[in-house]
Amino acid sequence: MRYANPTRGLHRAAFGFKRDRLPNAVEYFREQGLKLVGGGEWKSAVCPFHQDTRPSLRVRIETGAFRCMVCGAHGGDVLAFHMQRYELRFIEAARTLGAWEEAR
Ligand SMILES: [Zn+2]
Repeated sequence: MRYANPTRGLHRAAFGFKRDRLPNAVEYFREQGLKLVGGGEWKSAVCPFHQDTRPSLRVRIETGAFRCMVCGAHGGDVLAFHMQRYELRFIEAARTLGAWEEAR
């Protein structure tokens, strides 16, 4: 899934998306109720995007990237996950995750 980053070209702006404030991927997925299993950089979890019966979702703990081998849901970070799970727009999801600095 691709989405526009509305902060592009505004790197010096005081407001906007702050990637470094995104939650840690392991903690985020745990809070989302995902049980991460397996060793190594990629973990497996029961996919929340379809009626999954066994861990079909692959999650990269370093970046938050995810991909489901059954339904095809995928994204590059916890923000993409949050947008898809709760059908939020970029800014809404960034706000919810505490990674959006409001204009003053
Ligand atoms: Zn799935």
